[in-house]
Amino acid sequence: MTAITKPRVLVLGLDGATWTLLDPLLAQNKLPTLGKFIQNGTRSLLRSCIQPSSEQAWSAFATGKQNGKFGLYGFYQRSKNSYALEYINASHRRAATLWRILSARGKKCVVVNVPLTWPVEKINGALVSGLMTPGLHSEFTYPPELKNELLRELGEYIIDVDIERGETGGESLDELAARVKRMSELQTRAFEYLLDQNADWDFGMLVHRAPDILCHKFWRYQDPTHPLYNERDAAQWGGVINDCFAYLDQCNARLLEKYADENTTVIILSDHGFGPLTHAVYLNQYFAQKGILAYKEQTGNPLSSALRAGVKRLNNPLLAAAKNKAFEIFPRLKSNLHYSMAYGNLDWTRTKAYAVGTMGNVYLNVRGREPEGCVEPDAYEATRDAVIAALRELIDPETQKPIFDFVYRREEIYNGDALEDAPDVIGLIDGPYHVAAVDWRGANGAQKSVVEKVGNQLLFVSDTSGQHRMDGILAMNGNGIAPNHPSAQAPNLIDLAPTILQLFDEAIPDDMDGRVLNEFLSRPQLAEYTPALHFENKMDGEYSDAEQKEIEERLAGLGYLG
Ligand SMILES: [Zn+2]
Repeated sequence: MTAITKPRVLVLGLDGATWTLLDPLLAQNKLPTLGKFIQNGTRSLLRSCIQPSSEQAWSAFATGKQNGKFGLYGFYQRSKNSYALEYINASHRRAATLWRILSARGKKCVVVNVPLTWPVEKINGALVSGLMTPGLHSEFTYPPELKNELLRELGEYIIDVDIERGETGGESLDELAARVKRMSELQTRAFEYLLDQNADWDFGMLVHRAPDILCHKFWRYQDPTHPLYNERDAAQWGGVINDCFAYLDQCNARLLEKYADENTTVIILSDHGFGPLTHAVYLNQYFAQKGILAYKEQTGNPLSSALRAGVKRLNNPLLAAAKNKAFEIFPRLKSNLHYSMAYGNLDWTRTKAYAVGTMGNVYLNVRGREPEGCVEPDAYEATRDAVIAALRELIDPETQKPIFDFVYRREEIYNGDALEDAPDVIGLIDGPYHVAAVDWRGANGAQKSVVEKVGNQLLFVSDTSGQHRMDGILAMNGNGIAPNHPSAQAPNLIDLAPTILQLFDEAIPDDMDGRVLNEFLSRPQLAEYTPALHFENKMDGEYSDAEQKEIEERLAGLGYLG
């Protein structure tokens, strides 16, 4: 260790980590590094943003702002004056990242694998982009020449695991788990390499995506309460998630040993929590039943007849495999699949509102705003009230409890320049439900249930069994952190950026929405604010058609497409 005495901040992200999984492992001393870390430091829940999805959540962390300012509401967004959806990347983010702000203040940053960092930003230091990077063929490093240097140094690199491989059976599940581990190993080594190369670094951040990927895919094997749980599969794959956390604990042990000296503050956090996914909610089907949405055909079925016939023939108990089979039979299905399957058969002239994405975002179809809008502007509030009432009324027939924990008007939770792009109504799910925009279940629309258990004809989501939750994790230790201070108010992801600036004794841009987490700091002081610099995202980040497809497949594998 060189004799550098300046303050440093090291952030280690565990995407999707939740205390409900970590606490039992801590009790069994299976995460010795995290255990020791918490003992001398502090731990807390960390509230995610709305919606608690990785691309938005890491943006909330990176900008210290809520969605109305950073301008992202999902993995895809509506194209201007159109119902078509386009995949987002860092070029769509409308607010400066922490590493951009720190770079402008002369701090050296090393940032590896944070979701939504492609196209790469020019920073003072080095950056390797994460989730939503098209692939190894793209420019995924800053500076650009770093890409070949890294590949030379490591022999290979994995940005993200192609999950589709894991869908077809046992061998592929093992392969998936092994590949995720290899990815974590390579990314940890890349991070170490870059911290060594930039020995005078100030801010270092690495995000491990492994927990998010594995919790989506393997939750059912380790949770005896999950409807798809069985002992045979549990014996084979029930340990995958726990083994992953133990492995990441070893990776973090190495990083702390090498890079966290007495001047370093270390923050371990997740972007959201995780829990079981047990039911799909066909929200657009529900809207159709409520007279809020209308299909062109009387059947209420968005599938084309050819596709319906094809899907019907696939009498395969392995639903994910059946889906892949359907893609073989209908090769064009995957391209633009989501839009055409979800909305291709909507009668816009009679559709007042419709759901986009897998979490509960609802747009009204307003005349003058949407291309075929039918809600008159003066009927906007009444229509919105009706949608809100419908969402609040929607209950799980088994538990008789509401599907949505909260339902908001957009201006109740968001503010800023990007408010106008926000969904008009936001239903927040903090339970085991997944909104399915695409209905794969065939004919007889009227009789179909809106809430359906996983494994029951859910061609699209049956291969994911875990879902995000609002409560992630936060643990802090080291320089400037007061140990064992409980937090009166649960910290939020947007609080980290201002807190990190405070740890550097740097002024906080006054348009950040988060607060300094003074309750965790050993030298709490009044924060200093500075007017925000004008930020314009001028990055060119258009995906090619082939890249769109790659991105789509990867998101579908995680269950992020209806
Ligand atoms: Zn995530």
